[in-house]
Amino acid sequence: MRYIPTIGLEVHVQLKTRSKMFCACPVGFGAEPNTQTCPVCLGFPGALPVMNEEALKMTALAGLMLGCEIPEVCKFDRKNYFYPDMPKNYQITQYDQPICAGGAVPLHDLAYPKDAQKSIAAPDKKVGLTRIHLEEDVAKSTHFEASSGIDFNRAGTPLMEIVSEPEIDSPEEAFAYLTALQQILIYGDVSDADMEKGQLRCDCNVSVRPEGQTEFGTKIEIKNMNSISAVRRALAYEIERQTAELARGEAQVQSTRRWDDDAGQTFLMRKKESSQDYRYFPDPDLLPVRTSAFIDEVRARRPELPAEKRARFVTQYGVTDYDASVLASDRALARYFEEAAAGAKKPKSVANWLLNDLLSALAAADKTIANCPISPSQLDELVNLIDSGAINGKQGKEVFAEMFASGRGAAVIVEEKGLRQESDVGAIEELCDQAIAASPKAVAEFKAGKTQAINAIKGQVMKLSQGKANAAVVNEILLRKLAE
Ligand code: ADP
Ligand code: MG
Ligand code: ZN
Repeated sequence: MRYIPTIGLEVHVQLKTRSKMFCACPVGFGAEPNTQTCPVCLGFPGALPVMNEEALKMTALAGLMLGCEIPEVCKFDRKNYFYPDMPKNYQITQYDQPICAGGAVPLHDLAYPKDAQKSIAAPDKKVGLTRIHLEEDVAKSTHFEASSGIDFNRAGTPLMEIVSEPEIDSPEEAFAYLTALQQILIYGDVSDADMEKGQLRCDCNVSVRPEGQTEFGTKIEIKNMNSISAVRRALAYEIERQTAELARGEAQVQSTRRWDDDAGQTFLMRKKESSQDYRYFPDPDLLPVRTSAFIDEVRARRPELPAEKRARFVTQYGVTDYDASVLASDRALARYFEEAAAGAKKPKSVANWLLNDLLSALAAADKTIANCPISPSQLDELVNLIDSGAINGKQGKEVFAEMFASGRGAAVIVEEKGLRQESDVGAIEELCDQAIAASPKAVAEFKAGKTQAINAIKGQVMKLSQGKANAAVVNEILLRKLAE
């Protein structure tokens, strides 16, 4: 019997607003506990919330980027429950009239884990969204040995909840979904979406059903995942666990589990005997919102999306799909590429140097494109020197290393090192004659049909020229002379 997994994700995203959702306290990470609070976000009785318009706009922008519908009216409700991190005893959220409905997250190849990119089950899949609603984040509890502490700095931070349809079919698709979603949110500048900082948090719902059964199996929720790779591991574990239990005839009970990344297992937290009644009702302190008041301004803010950028890079610059995907995966990298490619004769060469040499040099030096020692115009200058034949590829590598170490321009370094490439045919012919005379064995092998033997002779010529000979010219002359 085969079992089919079904996954739906609920993603919480902290918005990048300057102030909180319903008060003027600053939004920030890392401040002393309980220093960024006021009666509103501490939940004092009688304190009145005032809506943050920018948070509404950012959520609508996220919705537009994800193809959601933005209804004419949305409103805020009270979700009633008792918990120490929520001293009002209710959370302000949106229940039946959220700010965004529908939409989808497109899964592109590079969003999948590296080891799964060769075996993508449903290429170009789009995972549907149910809704996006806006709410306030709760305080953060920390449990010490004999006591617990609560930090209200986080309380009241604008929080988007993005709910997917149960349309994700594997842990790898969940990984791709989160990667692609994170990319879009960062593109729109609505969140830094850093999971390590808790700016993007994910609850995973997963069930398994026997093949042939149409209705979904009983779902298990894994709470508060804080890395995308851990989501993949937790889901893989949970699918295997549920499958084994179903195969033994043990039914699943709706419940919440916790993932322990060190143990590599999920553990039961609580069973859901009945669905909790939150007694939602419209917040009487907040008026419904007419989205037409700001939607035109938000539409104008919509940036080019990663998928659109990828397609444009392929047509405008002639780079491959793969190159375009890597370049568009990061806004800063894409911007760098476009600046460097602007003046380039061959933008494809710029892409090659950027993706091969520059990215690995940055990684080795523990730097990012933001503090890259080579400016886009300097990279462009180097590539043009190579493409115009002024220096050869090998010299280019040497110049590149020097540029990266010193931050100086390519032309200056070429001049200083006397690296100009030798393209003079007469001079190169002379070197070729010398090399042929010095390599009788390689010449004989070449004439006997072993074509790679030419490389040894080429190496000789390059050596005689101290690495300055134009490799294409050398090749041409050698082939001619050896055919004589
Ligand atoms: P709840 O009311 O328990 O929060 P929802 O219907 O709101 O449940 O769904 C929450 C999330 O769980 C959604 O992302 C949804 O796609 C997903 N989901 C719902 N049913 C299942 C299921 N049987 N298996 C896996 N995921 C599911
Ligand atoms: Mg729900
Ligand atoms: Zn406050």
